[in-house]
Amino acid sequence: MKIGIISAMREEMQELLHELQNVRVHHKGKRDYYEGILFGKEVVLVFSRWGKVASAVTTTQLINDFELDEIIFTGVAGALNAELNIGDIVIGKTLFQHDMDASPLYPKFEIPLLNQQGFETVSNQHLIDATKDFLNNFTQLIPTEKAATFKIIRPKMIKGTILSGDQFISSKEKIESLLKQIPQADCVEMEGAAIAQVCFEYNIPFSIIRIISDKAMDNSHIDFQKFADEIASHYAKAILKNYFSQI
Ligand code: SAH
Repeated sequence: MKIGIISAMREEMQELLHELQNVRVHHKGKRDYYEGILFGKEVVLVFSRWGKVASAVTTTQLINDFELDEIIFTGVAGALNAELNIGDIVIGKTLFQHDMDASPLYPKFEIPLLNQQGFETVSNQHLIDATKDFLNNFTQLIPTEKAATFKIIRPKMIKGTILSGDQFISSKEKIESLLKQIPQADCVEMEGAAIAQVCFEYNIPFSIIRIISDKAMDNSHIDFQKFADEIASHYAKAILKNYFSQI
């Protein structure tokens, strides 16, 4: 059993890298692939950089060069669903590429020739349970003063719809336009649906964890590096530790 774990930025997987043992680094196409043992399981960790192309090439390389049984993405996202707050978790169920538009040749969002608008992830009950377990023990796992810096009080998890595109979303108008087109959307980011497409094409089970870092509004420019480093990467470590103990 070997698991590929992708983040878009190094900070998002910093804590996982700290835990990795027997590390072998493979340098390919400007990326470092860290192969090793994480919480007793064989893994390959890689940060893809931002955007659909960067994450798609990374995923393709990962699948072709390492014999993987599944891929998990972990990272941050902007909220579209008004019920979501900073620190909440979205486990992706359906993913759309919100900037894919080959209309009138294909319906909007449909990926040409794949006959596919949204990508469904595998239904990963172990990951849901691992996340619930993390949230139940949140105060022991995330230092209160760090959570307070980002006003995280009682975070929650939903299974939801993720939109991906090559745009950083930071305006009310843009949020409204996305929600008008895909009303069930919960959060927005720049990689998930591209990775989902590659995994679909190679038939690799894919799961995605997105931690809400901002509300995709004019004030979206929070200290992302700090959030990814001090919050998101600790979430990833705790959730995946639980997950690996179950599978
Ligand atoms: N570090 C940057 C911002 C990172 S945001 C800064 O200092 O300003 C870009 C990354 O976070 C992408 O990997 C994307 O997937 C995710 N992301 C978080 N919030 C987002 C938003 N509002 N719109 C698009 N992507 C977002």
